[in-house]
Parts: sequence; structure tokens; C-alpha cells
Amino acid sequence: MTSLKKLFYGGRIYTMADSPAVCDAMIVDGDHISWVGSSSELSSVPSDSFELIDLDGQIILPGFIDSHTHLVFWALSRQQIDLDGATSYENALKIIRDFASKQSKSDKSWLVGKGWKREQWRKIKWPHKSELDRSVPDRPVAVFSKDEHLLWVNSKALAIAGITGQTPDPEGGEIGRDAGGETTGILRDNACRLVLMHAKPPSRREAETALKPAFAEMYRQGCVGVTSFDNIYGFEVLQTLDIAGKLPVRVVYHFPHDRVTEDTILRMKTGFGSEFLRIGGIKIFADGALGSQTALMFKPFADSKDNMGIEATSPNELRRIVGKATKAGMACAIHAIGDRANRNVLDAFEAVGRNVSSRFRHRIEHCQIVHPQDIKRFAELKVVASMQPSHATADIDLMKRYLGSRQRDSYRFRTFAKLGLTMCFGSDAPIEPLNPLHGIYAAVTGKAVEGRICFNPRETISVAQAVKGFTIAGAEAVGDAQRRGNLIAGKKADFIVLDRDIMRLDAEQILKTTVTATYINGELKYCADGFPD
Ligand SMILES: [Zn+2]
Repeated sequence: MTSLKKLFYGGRIYTMADSPAVCDAMIVDGDHISWVGSSSELSSVPSDSFELIDLDGQIILPGFIDSHTHLVFWALSRQQIDLDGATSYENALKIIRDFASKQSKSDKSWLVGKGWKREQWRKIKWPHKSELDRSVPDRPVAVFSKDEHLLWVNSKALAIAGITGQTPDPEGGEIGRDAGGETTGILRDNACRLVLMHAKPPSRREAETALKPAFAEMYRQGCVGVTSFDNIYGFEVLQTLDIAGKLPVRVVYHFPHDRVTEDTILRMKTGFGSEFLRIGGIKIFADGALGSQTALMFKPFADSKDNMGIEATSPNELRRIVGKATKAGMACAIHAIGDRANRNVLDAFEAVGRNVSSRFRHRIEHCQIVHPQDIKRFAELKVVASMQPSHATADIDLMKRYLGSRQRDSYRFRTFAKLGLTMCFGSDAPIEPLNPLHGIYAAVTGKAVEGRICFNPRETISVAQAVKGFTIAGAEAVGDAQRRGNLIAGKKADFIVLDRDIMRLDAEQILKTTVTATYINGELKYCADGFPD
């Protein structure tokens, strides 16, 4: 281990702190930043006492924090069938066939995957089990739609699950049937579980194997930390890695409320954990999603007379869970898409009192459609708005179809930024790609990576605001801003080097920007060729 301090100079350093906001020199001492300032103040520095690193005109930012991921699920899904980008139904089937042909012939275990979107296909049509049977007849196949609300399965999978045309729909789910009552191989929402419960979960070893390249990909994208919503099994995998000193990014973990007994999990406290793995809190669902029109709304969706979505958890139950968790010292992260769901959650947070604890903050995941009357309550109740800019751009068509004029109340990035509340950003990977630069581009331009239309020009924000959402706000949201999230003396040396100055250049340059180096705890974890180190 080198004991030399590292002096970075020769480029702009955006600290994402108030003072200095921008500087051109930074000293890293071991795992932390010991000084930031102007290189002119360094004329007396004896050069042999530092390792000098010339940025050569590149910029430094704090390392990106993705505040909403499903880390283990994302890592595993990178190894599974991926239909995102399939151009037609036939193309989707070919991807599945090719994937299956690469597996060992003797392997008869489940083939799973995700990513199909009928609207992306040349000819929009419903996928069917029969073509899937022809492609893969001898082993069960189950592939999620891009929004994860539909599952396309083959006959083998239906047979294992014992699902026939006579099987009744489960509550909150639907088994697709044709006019003759025969199953089609499409399952909706809770019906997916009927099949998936038969698929063997990946082993710990499989998850560990999948995580290794996933961590490398995070480094490549400048991502040094995440908040993750996975199941208990995912926590066990990460904990095992952490104990072995092999967890290389900072993870804050939220447990699914419906999969744990409150009495077990609530004995832990938000913030408990190690250098790299900490307890975030519990995750609860207030409603469904916009694409399946299950978001909980005050008024019916634009294409319906009476559908106002579903209440995944009743207001009374929300209040009970939030009350119990708060008392136990555990933060709640509550999924809320529709305006009514957001109100229900804010009501529950208000009911437990606004300053229950300064040690942790409750948060709303997505905050997609918020009634104008509720906007200020986020600030009043000190609720964290955890949002995903890439959802805003992916949802442009859905908002038009289902929301009508309420599109104005969606994804209120600029409005929230003006209120000064903690608005942290994430990708929701694997629903959307993890890449934070894509998220920043979406928040700044309002456009998808390959898109032309802006979701709402009145709610786009500056590059600096978007970077804040992917750095310091992510640390603030989990009560860790004392330790990390921006670049001032005393903070952990988690930072990245970018090959161009996204703060000053045209927004279109954001997509052409490359992360040339990623540091965590002052250690160089990733280095692209362009970095002169
Ligand atoms: Zn999610």
C-alpha cells in the first residue's frame, strides 16, 4: 500500500458542495479527501511527498449513487434472456432460441428472462405459448415484459405450475385465456407468481457469479453506490460477500415488507451495518403501475370511465406499518405512482409526526403523479422524493394515453428542485439501464436516449441539479451525507473522472461522455485507457 497522498490537478473538480463548488485541485489521503482548493495555493507543495495525477483537462465529480435499484435481480438478469430491443415477435423468439441453444442439452431447469414490449415490435401482437413451445419444447420458459407486469410462458411452465383453462384467476392477477377458454401463455400481475414459485431460485453461488461482472459494469458507469430493493435472499448474498471483504460498492438495503415478519426485521435499525452494506429500511407498495393502469388515481384513467387503479396497501394499513416501523427506528420506502397513492403515503407519514427522528428519513419511491395540493407536503414532512428520470422518458406514450391533462402533474423534477427537498435519482435497474449519465440526460433534456420528444419541458432541470440527484442527494436520502456524496475535506474519497465537462457543454454531449476512472475509498477501481494515471 502506498502511503503517498494523491494530488489531483489540471482539470475542473465539481465538489457538489456549496463551498468551494468548483476548484482545480484535490488531495486524497488514504480513504478520504483531505483538501480541495485552488492549485495556486499549492506552489509550496514538495512534489516528492505526493503522487501527482494530472487530469489533463478532464473533470472530477463525486461517484454516482443510484438510489433505486434491484441490485441482485439486475445482476442475475444480465445473465438471462433479454428481449429489450427485439424488433419483432419473430426476432424475440429467435433471441430465446439462440439463448436456449447455448445452454447445456442436459439442463432442463427454467429459462427465465425479461424485456419484451409489444409496442416495440414491427407488428404489435400478443405473444402466445404455442410459438414459444415450438422454440423451446423441453424445458420451462418464463419471460417478463419490460414493465414486469406480464409473464409470457410456454406449455411446459404451465404444466409444472398445474395451470389449465379451468384454473381460477388469483386475486390481483389474471390468467390469459382465448375465446375457447384455453390458456394463452400470458399471465398478469399476481398470476405470474403461480408459475414463478416453481422456478428454483438461483443459488448463492450463481448470484455471486452474476454479481462480479455487474460490479465491474457499475465501476465502468461511475456508480459507486446503490440503494437496493431485493428480497431477503439477495441480502444474504451481499452480506456473505461483505463478510469476505468482497463487496466492492456501497449498498443500502431495503427489505420487502410483505416477505419478512415485522418482529424479526424491526429489531434492526436503519443505518446499521458495515462500511459497504447498511440497512436502509422496509419497502412497501401503495399501488401498482401506470402501464397496467393499476396506479391509484383520484380520477379514472383517460381511456376509462371508472378505473382508478388499485390500492396495494390500504391507508389504514399504511399508517399501521409506518407507525410501527418508525417507532422501531426503521425507515419506510413506499412505492407510489398515482396521485391518490402519493396522498395516502403522505397522510401516513404525517400521521406519525413530522420530526419523529432526525436519524432517518421516510421516502416515496417514484412520486410519479403528485396532486398539486400535495407538492409542498414533501418538504413540510421532510419526505425524500426518490425518482427515476429515465422512467419519465420511457413513459411518454403511456402518459399521453392514460393521463390526459394530468401529464402536467407527472415527474415534477423542477418543481421539487425549487422546493429544496431531498430528491434522489435512480434507474430502477433492471427495469431501465443502470447508466447514471443516461438518467442525467433524461432529467436535463426530458428525452429518452434515442428519443426526440420531451416528456414535459417545464419540469426539466439543470445538469448540476441532475448530478446532485445522482450524488449528494443519494447520500442524504439514506442519512449518510456526513460520510460521502460530495467532495470536501473529511469525506470518503469516492469520485469519478469524466472525459468531458458535462456542466458546460451542450446537453447532447452527456451521452458521448465517458467515465475514465472510478475511485472508491481513494482506490482506483476502474480506469479507461484515456486516463493518464
Ligand atoms: Zn423498483
